[in-house]
Amino acid sequence: MVVGTTKIRVARKCYRCDERGHPIMLSENYEYMYGLFETWTTYRTCVPCLNVRNAHMGCWVYGRVWEDIRECLGDEVVPEFMTKDEYNKIAEQEGRN
Ligand SMILES: [Zn+2]
Ligand SMILES: [Zn+2]
Repeated sequence: MVVGTTKIRVARKCYRCDERGHPIMLSENYEYMYGLFETWTTYRTCVPCLNVRNAHMGCWVYGRVWEDIRECLGDEVVPEFMTKDEYNKIAEQEGRN
């Protein structure tokens, strides 16, 4: 992102998380990001994905967080989805973060 803003918002309607398509239900928090990449782009990230992303200190890119985590930790140890605690456990086992 070159320029843009990120903030936590309360959903005024239902959305889908741009990382994994998780539903973001009415009145749930989500991260709203509007920024200039190749074009002006909006990304919405659900809180579970956000927590895992924050736990993952390494590299990541909007819309590809899970792929990046897979690359860092290894395909075979990263399930389809995990919580922050599960992430921390796997990262510790793998001796990486
Ligand atoms: Zn998500
Ligand atoms: Zn990474």
